[in-house]
Parts: sequence; C-alpha cells; structure tokens
Amino acid sequence: MKKVLIIGAGVSGLGSAIRIKEKFPDFKVTIATKDITPNTTGDGSAGLWGPFILGSTPDDKVVQWSRETHDFFLYLWREGLAGSCLIPCLRVDKTKNPLPSWKHVVFGFKELNEVELEVWKSIYSMDDIQSAFSFVTFTCEPKHLLKYLMDRFYKLGGKIVQREIKSIDNLSDEDYDIIINCSGLGAKYIVPDPKVIPVRGQVARVKAPWIYHVLLDESDDGNYIIPNTDTVVLGGTHQENDFNTNICKEDSKFIRQGCEHIVPGLKNIETLFEWVGLRPGRDSVRLESGSMRNNKSKLIIHNYGHGGSGVTLFWGCAREVVDILTSALDETSKSKL
Ligand SMILES: Cc1cc2nc3c(=O)[nH]c(=O)nc-3n(C[C@H](O)[C@H](O)[C@H](O)COP(=O)(O)OP(=O)(O)OC[C@H]3O[C@@H](n4cnc5c(N)ncnc54)[C@H](O)[C@@H]3O)c2cc1C
Repeated sequence: MKKVLIIGAGVSGLGSAIRIKEKFPDFKVTIATKDITPNTTGDGSAGLWGPFILGSTPDDKVVQWSRETHDFFLYLWREGLAGSCLIPCLRVDKTKNPLPSWKHVVFGFKELNEVELEVWKSIYSMDDIQSAFSFVTFTCEPKHLLKYLMDRFYKLGGKIVQREIKSIDNLSDEDYDIIINCSGLGAKYIVPDPKVIPVRGQVARVKAPWIYHVLLDESDDGNYIIPNTDTVVLGGTHQENDFNTNICKEDSKFIRQGCEHIVPGLKNIETLFEWVGLRPGRDSVRLESGSMRNNKSKLIIHNYGHGGSGVTLFWGCAREVVDILTSALDETSKSKL
C-alpha cells in the first residue's frame, strides 16, 4: 500500500486523485490544497471544451488528452450531470488559419465556405472575419463538475485537507511515497518553475437565456459569448504576466462593448457580476515525473501549466498521470527482483 499526496484540488488534482484511486484502490490518497471549489481557477470559467492558450504543447498530446476528456463529458452528459450541455459553437478569426488538429474530436466539424461566411458576417456585423469553423461540443460547468469530482473522490475513500505547501522539497521527510503536483499557478513557487506565468482572464456574467450557442472570436482582440445553465459568460481577456485579480474598468468596457456589437440584444441586459481568474500559463503543459532535490526515493509527478484549457484536458492528463505512476512502480518492483 502506497501513500500518495496530491497538491491542489482544481480539475487537475481531483481528476488525478480519482483516477489513481480507481486504478489502485488500496493506495491512501490525500489531497492537500490551499483552496477548494468554489474558489479554484476553474470555478469561474465557462467550462467550454476547446484547446486554448497552450503554448507549444505538442498537438498529438493536446488531441489525446482533450479527446479523452471530450469522451468523459459525453459520459457525464448521458448520465445527466447538471451543467453538462451539448452546444453548437462558431469559432471565427480575422486571419485565415489551418484546420485545427482537434477537428475530429468535436461533433460535425465544418470549415465555413465563402457563402456561409458572408451569412454569419452579416448576422454578427463582423466584417473583418476571414475564417470560421462550426461544430458541436460540450460545456461542463466547473461549479457542478468540481462538486461531482469531489463527491466521486470521497466515495472512493479519498481525503482532502486544507493546507498550503510552501515548497515541494519541504515534503522530503513526510510520510508519502508519491507526490502529484497539480498546483496550477502555484507551481511557479513550490517547484519552483519560472516558466509558469499567470494569464489573466476577466469575464462578465449576464442573464440571457435566449442565447443558445457559443461564439468565439479567436483574434487577439476578440470577444466570446458562452452560455452556461443559469448565466451567459461574456469574455474576455488573456493578459500574460498580469497578476491583477481586481476587476479592471477598461476590460469591463471592452467585454461589454465587444459582445454588444456582436449580439445587440445584450445592450438591454445588466451585468450580474464580473470575475477575474489567473490561468496557469506555461510554454508547454508539464506532465512528467520529476525528483526532489533532497530525497531521490520519492516519486514526483508534475501535472500543471494547462493555460486556458485545464477543463478541456484534465481527464486525459489524469490518465497519463496514472500511466507514469504505473510504469514507475513496475520499474521499482523489477529492480527489487
Ligand atoms: C476567465 C477564464 C476562463 C476560462 N475558461 C475555460 C474554459 O472555458 N475551458 C477550459 O478548459 N479552461 C478554461 N479556463 C482555464 C482553466 O480554468 C484552467 O486551465 C484550470 O482551472 C486549471 O486547472 P488546475 O487544476 O490545473 O489549476 P487550478 O484550477 O488553478 O487549481 C490549482 C489548485 O492548486 C491549489 N494550490 C496552488 N498552490 C498551492 C500550494 N502552494 N499549496 C497547496 N495548494 C495549492 C489551489 O488552491 C487549487 O486548488 C479558464 C480560465 C479563466 C481564468
């Protein structure tokens, strides 16, 4: 029986904890975390499936992890999880882009032809759009998803403790065999990993139950509109290396004016609340084993740096955590023969 400590109770930590416990039911799995839902980064996000702000994370990995998570969302949707919605999406861009690597993951992916593009440009008054993709995917609203994941972990016998880890190296004397680092932006300090940076995101939520589909303008100065079950998320910003978690008036104006230009009916709707979150950005997702400087006998697996796609990738990443763990345990038992 091994003792596992998971740092972080966001989607990445909970996903990893569940998949480890399901593969190794005898292992004692504890999550140590500074915050739990509703105070993690994922809680404020719309929970839309879609790779976004992932640096140069290899495409094959993005497809593999996101496909597994998409399959999981289909499972949750069929089970009737609250906040899990199948939803049509239009992704537009002011430049002409190659088809995305994940085109076969979503349902009914289609690049719009010139005629179709003209139709949408006139509906949304977006004259400068050069390309657009339409498809159907899921939103899996994190406030419901995170609660579901916590319940599933508790039912498996897992434990969650409120605790801030100051440094991974400080855990060298503790009674854990394996440490899984899912601390998101926290990895910047506790690894420490200077490659991790905040990518600030400000959004507004409005009540507009008459909006039934997602619109994403992928351009740098683009806006997005994503319906959730009770509210619609209007976005948004992605400011690199910005630690400011306060609402910024300029950003509020950019979000409201941009979204109202696309969907004029929003002019009649008040903002319910605004929110700022710091995405855990990195040049590439870090999902690999590592080691402690002062105790080589403990296995560490890092699973962080998911940028704007933590919800999109978490279930596939959690499976890879289990694969790395299984191989490491196999190696250890072989070396003891
Ligand atoms: C505005 C906005 C919109 C977004 N929309 C989407 C979307 O639609 N779809 C999508 O896929 N993604 C979206 N994202 C990105 C997504 O929210 C993140 O990628 C995701 O939350 C990362 O999950 P995580 O579990 O790795 O990290 P986090 O959710 O940040 O969780 C990290 C956990 O580690 C804990 N922790 C940190 N440091 C320590 C420490 N020192 N000791 C103990 N515990 C620690 C924290 O308390 C927390 O529990 C959005 C983000 C923002 C800001």
